[in-house]
Amino acid sequence: MIGRTGEADDKGYYEGLVYLPCTETNNFTPAIPKEKVDIIYLCYPNNPTGMVATKAELKAWVDYANAQGSIIFFDAAYEAFITEPGIPHSIYEIEGAKTCAIEFRSFSKTAGFTGVRCGLTVIPEQLTGHTVGGEKVALNKLWNRRQSTKFNGVSYPVQRAAAAVYSEDGWSQVQETIAFYMENARLILQGLKTAGITCYGGVNAPYIWLKTPGGLASWDFFDKLLTECHVVGTPGSGFGPSGEGYFRLSAFGSRENVQEAVRRIQGKWGEN
Ligand SMILES: *Cc1c(COP(=O)(O)O)cnc(C)c1O
Repeated sequence: MIGRTGEADDKGYYEGLVYLPCTETNNFTPAIPKEKVDIIYLCYPNNPTGMVATKAELKAWVDYANAQGSIIFFDAAYEAFITEPGIPHSIYEIEGAKTCAIEFRSFSKTAGFTGVRCGLTVIPEQLTGHTVGGEKVALNKLWNRRQSTKFNGVSYPVQRAAAAVYSEDGWSQVQETIAFYMENARLILQGLKTAGITCYGGVNAPYIWLKTPGGLASWDFFDKLLTECHVVGTPGSGFGPSGEGYFRLSAFGSRENVQEAVRRIQGKWGEN
């Protein structure tokens, strides 16, 4: 955001980044880079693809990070949407993660706090970075300093609302809402597959990642979907160069709207 990545080339790849393409070819499981990287951003369940990582896959990342001295930023914003058993909800389920990983969690999707703003960051006390001179520095202390000086915390009413999520009533209400959205996801996934559209995700995440019919560019599919079906979604290319030719649909809607949107998409693409 402050420009350390340098400029983007004409395909949209920024200079200072090593990309982890997540595509159909690698079943949305990116290979571990051959070179050393300082920071690894992983998001599972993934936005936008809706795909997840297994324990074995995350273990390979943790082992790589510990060997290279890299830090994993593990974005677990969608962990509450995991429905399949055995899928890790936290990077700390992986042995060795406490010496290489920071995890983010958020109430935004779990409990509909998007505008309310509450999340959390886990920085294990064992986790260290290093100075230019190679001296080890505990990141937890640095983060605490940063938080207590520049942020000062989430407002009290919002903290109380977040705590209510973990009450018996709150938790069951949140689970109910998530189950409702995951049923939407199932309907979208099933409906689009019936229409012959190749889709991914939608099982452990509230997103369906579809391959645009007829190989349309993401934005061309967006235009068609908007003007001919009056349905709005997110062009895959907006998430980076590897998203071109894909499109994200969200399950965060009413049942009526989801069913109507699926009907319209089936009416438009179903016969082909
Ligand atoms: C929505 C979302 C978040 C949550 O961000 P907040 O700032 O807590 O609202 C984090 N990561 C991903 C990938 C998301 O989609």
